[in-house]
Amino acid sequence: MKTDKGCIFCKIIAGEIPAVKIWEDKEFMAMLDIHPASIHGGHVLIMPKEHFELITDVPDNVLKDMGIAIKKISGALLKYGEGLNVVQNNKKVAGQYVPHVHFHLIPRFENDGVRIEKWEVNNYNRGEMEKVASKIKKLMK
Ligand code: AMP
Ligand code: ZN
Repeated sequence: MKTDKGCIFCKIIAGEIPAVKIWEDKEFMAMLDIHPASIHGGHVLIMPKEHFELITDVPDNVLKDMGIAIKKISGALLKYGEGLNVVQNNKKVAGQYVPHVHFHLIPRFENDGVRIEKWEVNNYNRGEMEKVASKIKKLMK
């Protein structure tokens, strides 16, 4: 199993740094984020125990199992709060500060002040949407 000596999440998984764990199995660990997105808390981070940096680095079978684990914890968090956001950041420009792949599970409450879904909206110029879609489709090959 790959680990990274400098990685804070690898250190938590190895038991070298304390954390408040919610759930774990052989492959994954879920813990409370030390800085919850809202005053209501319950913000959970779930990650593979093996060190991968980006979502695209995670093997398909591991990612499938992680999807099931995310669903399990999401069920509890939807009862804890009134709604739930699942967020996963890749690379610094997208807000990834810990380079060990993880999903944020953020319980939501009325007027909780969390700003995830309220980004500024933009518009495409005429014909631009089709061009962008074609570019992405080519990149998928
Ligand atoms: P990201 O910005 O997506 O890389 O998220 C990293 C998250 O890890 C942040 O929300 C931090 O609050 C959280 N975090 C960092 N160190 C710890 C720690 N020792 N225990 C729990 N959560 C942590
Ligand atoms: Zn790591």
